[in-house]
Amino acid sequence: MSLVLSGTQPFDDPPAPDRPVIRRLAPLLVNQIAAGEVIERPASVVKELVENAIDAGATRITVELEEGGVKLVRVTDDGVGLDKDDLPLALTPHATSKIAEADDLDRIATMGFRGEALASIASVARVSIRSRVRGAESGWSIACEGGATREPTPAAGPIGTSVTVRELFFNTPARRKFLRTERTEKGRCLDWVRDLAMAHPLIGFTVIDGDTKPLELPANQTPRQRAVALLGKELEGELLEVAVDQFDDERGVLVWGLIGRPSIARPTARAQHLFLNGRTIKDRTVLHALKEGYRGLIDPGRHPTAVLLLETSPTAVDVNVHPAKLEVRFRDSSAVHRAVLTGVRRALQEADLTPTVEAKASPQAPMFGPVQADLSAVMFAERVRESRDDARLATGWSGPPTPAPPSIFAGPNEPPVARRAERVLQVMDSYLVVEDGDGILLIDQHALHERVMFQTLLERLGQARAQDGSLEHQKMLTPAVGPCESSALERLDEVGDLLRVLGIEASLAGPTSVGVHAFPSLLLSRKVEPASFVAELLQRVDRGEVRVGSETASEAALHEVLDMMACKAAVKAGDPLSEHEIAELLRLRETVERSSSCPHGRPTSIRIGRSEIERLFARR
Ligand code: ADP
Ligand code: MG
Repeated sequence: MSLVLSGTQPFDDPPAPDRPVIRRLAPLLVNQIAAGEVIERPASVVKELVENAIDAGATRITVELEEGGVKLVRVTDDGVGLDKDDLPLALTPHATSKIAEADDLDRIATMGFRGEALASIASVARVSIRSRVRGAESGWSIACEGGATREPTPAAGPIGTSVTVRELFFNTPARRKFLRTERTEKGRCLDWVRDLAMAHPLIGFTVIDGDTKPLELPANQTPRQRAVALLGKELEGELLEVAVDQFDDERGVLVWGLIGRPSIARPTARAQHLFLNGRTIKDRTVLHALKEGYRGLIDPGRHPTAVLLLETSPTAVDVNVHPAKLEVRFRDSSAVHRAVLTGVRRALQEADLTPTVEAKASPQAPMFGPVQADLSAVMFAERVRESRDDARLATGWSGPPTPAPPSIFAGPNEPPVARRAERVLQVMDSYLVVEDGDGILLIDQHALHERVMFQTLLERLGQARAQDGSLEHQKMLTPAVGPCESSALERLDEVGDLLRVLGIEASLAGPTSVGVHAFPSLLLSRKVEPASFVAELLQRVDRGEVRVGSETASEAALHEVLDMMACKAAVKAGDPLSEHEIAELLRLRETVERSSSCPHGRPTSIRIGRSEIERLFARR
């Protein structure tokens, strides 16, 4: 840019062509810019208007849509209404009845508070509001187009408010181009209504789209009724209730929700709905706690179904951190994490998660409904197993230093206690068949034993670490030596800490061999070969499948290795079991947490209900 010093030149310079001129923007343009942040599409209009209706204390809200909301969105409520003088103010930017001073920002209990939604919408669409307050003779209506608000005029109508938004983005064609098909826009409008309805079960909701009613929810539902109505009645039996009350102080939190059995986990997170104080949120802390709660019950690539409603004191959270208020900041996010994790874990622990094959009432119902949903988890686990078998090496294992007890007990000191005199059959040397309740139970012996081993190892490791120790192990009289790829051997130092915690001592025994000097007792008792185990572990680290390093990575690595240990230590498919071993495995099934699925989330047992058996025999 050229710098012009006045008085140094004889003539007035023409204005430099590239000199920026600062102007005050017209109010309409200001509002259109603000609208850019909050009004992206018809669904944003629906969200803002429904939130206003909720704030107005509505007990019934009706949403009408035309052409996916682009042509028309009308939200009608039976709330407190707006008086004649309120109407122009409601359309004025930064005018709100919900906060008055800065301190109010720390205790927001309403859905809105910025006072810009209606003004923003009115800058990019044709808006009219009709409203009547309780006790008033008649109502008023006001129209606003292109930022110009007209005088209110008397209008008849019931108590409450109806806001009509026509031709969204009629004056901002660039924004209109970003809209998707009518179907997509309509779907998003519905998603918002569903979300808001989930969080407000006392309010009745109706959506009218042309001559159809895609959604109709009665008022005064319980949270459970509302969640089931929205998730689908057919899922009711698959949902478990979460309830945690840690609302003991200002930072406390209350959690209520419904979460899906592992068998209905999905490949996407679409069936996850989080709410905080009546508001839909996206929150990593809560999602992490949810995922953590399901650890070992579903494969990590799948997402549990969950509706979680959190309540905190308004002072325990900052909602003013995101333009559409989708993200929030908790004052004490670890307390929230703890509460959600506790609730989810407890719900899953208390439930019998054995997938059950039951005859369905409807003839079209898939025969293996809930089990089939888990098929991809089964396939996932198979893949893991195959890749492990590939990686297994022939080793020069030099034999266990101590005689191994010939049992599959989790611990050598626990005497086997057979369950009530029940008849058990081992079939195909792989599965156990047991009578169970009103049906039969099919148990995958390897998967169940793997889960038992995993849980036992996890517990023992936890106890050892609490005392800064390592997993109970035995020193070898002569090291166990076995082959290992040289690139994998180079990772030995890196995994030193991990091995120590696990009670493993290993060193280089040659350019392509590894020597093991100490190994967990539990694995030795299960005849796991130390050198081939360590070689496989190093190779997995080398391939990046087990990642050590940061604190979180090493925690995950630890689980990964426990998982490997459990898999190796468990009885295999194809192993004939003695009566005594079978009895012990069944006993452990009852005592071990999460015994319904193996650590990869595959079911360990499947229940086939009497009704299904009868259906197969055409008895019903
Ligand atoms: P905010 O909700 O952030 O206050 P809005 O622009 O959405 O801002 O609304 C402005 C004001 O208009 C609100 O504070 C409220 O007083 C009033 N208002 C909007 N919608 C309704 C409604 N449906 N019923 C009663 N009052 C409403
Ligand atoms: Mg609002």
